Amino acid sequence: MKLSSAEKKIVETVDSLKDDICKFTCELVSHRSVLNNEAGVVQAMENKLETLGFSPKRVPINPESLKEHPGFAPVTWEYIDKDNVVARIEPEKHKGKSLLFNGHLDVVSADPDFWDTNPYAPEVKDGWIKGRGAGDMKSGVAAMTYAVHAVQKAGFDFTAPVTIEGVIEEECCGNGALACVHAGYDADAVLIPEPFGPDIYTCQVGVLWFRVDIKGKSVHVLRAGKGANSIEKAFPIIQALRGLEEEMNTENVPEQYRDFEHPLNLNIGIINGGDWASTVPCKAGFHARLSYYPGTTYEDVCRRIEETVYKAAKNDPWLRENMPEVVFYGFRSDGHCVDRDQEAFHVLNDCHKAFTGTDTKEYISTCTTDLRAFHFFTDAQATCFGPKADNIHGANERVDIESIMHTARTYALFAARWCGIIS
Ligand SMILES: [Zn+2]
Repeated sequence: MKLSSAEKKIVETVDSLKDDICKFTCELVSHRSVLNNEAGVVQAMENKLETLGFSPKRVPINPESLKEHPGFAPVTWEYIDKDNVVARIEPEKHKGKSLLFNGHLDVVSADPDFWDTNPYAPEVKDGWIKGRGAGDMKSGVAAMTYAVHAVQKAGFDFTAPVTIEGVIEEECCGNGALACVHAGYDADAVLIPEPFGPDIYTCQVGVLWFRVDIKGKSVHVLRAGKGANSIEKAFPIIQALRGLEEEMNTENVPEQYRDFEHPLNLNIGIINGGDWASTVPCKAGFHARLSYYPGTTYEDVCRRIEETVYKAAKNDPWLRENMPEVVFYGFRSDGHCVDRDQEAFHVLNDCHKAFTGTDTKEYISTCTTDLRAFHFFTDAQATCFGPKADNIHGANERVDIESIMHTARTYALFAARWCGIIS
């Protein structure tokens, strides 16, 4: 479909904002917005929304009002002054369909020892922006924010509500996006610019987090045989969980995941225990993430994890009498798949095609995203479509600037077509 003159004007405006989009990405990246350190980046997002003429509001994560919600993930930290920030454009007369852009402002940690540059001092070089969160997903947040701004700057008003939502805690539980849904922020279409490229994202796996606490018995190492080494007691338990991972990979594989080599992954992400090289450690524990197929429930997987841990423990004389404890916290996100044949996806495909001449591909994901909150608790047609990035969650994460611009153009065009515009 060819662009109308109004659409051309919008796209030209997006292009004229390229420097601002890159600068805002870098500004967001400069905030080390790891868990419980998100206040600075939320403030930066709020300031930007205000500067661009929006009216942002804070949406706190309030565990009191959320704890009965079926999507709420219990966590081990406190919720004090932990906000999301949302701006909604509400036209007086509604025509067209409403739209919500969601992007997360939190990032995972970065170990500077493994980076060529400071992860929080973004580097713009050879068409890429490098820095923690540059791809996942601060460039996407910049693209969506400026896409909406570009439509207005080009001289148009939307004829249906448009919401821009910057959330926290996507990387640990999804309680940020859930708090916004719970506060009533919803739309006919939801787009999330996660850095999986310009594809229509139709499936994601379930993900959960858990921790296993193991008790041992402390003695001086000269009597090590009389003690119980809690760190070593963790080994067979981890081994057993690897067995569960293999079983789950090959059982009831949904059609969408049949071509993947190993779609489901167990990650042992933290291990701790002991405090002295010459003392047999009496306490150890590990934290893990396990994924599961759409169609399997969180409760089912929890039960299997407990069974696996207890069964492995029963093979050990010490653990049999001192059962490890399994604690579930953080992510408790069931997976889901949606039909590609939805109106919003067709419109998005046409917008992408207007710039590339090709159709979008379908993206089947082996991780989770905040789409879950919209899929399970609203009626939105929701998908991810975003920039291309390298090494997300790893060292030297970077994002391709042209792909950020493609996301911004496509989003601006989508917003104009989906919501309707008047000059
Ligand atoms: Zn992300």
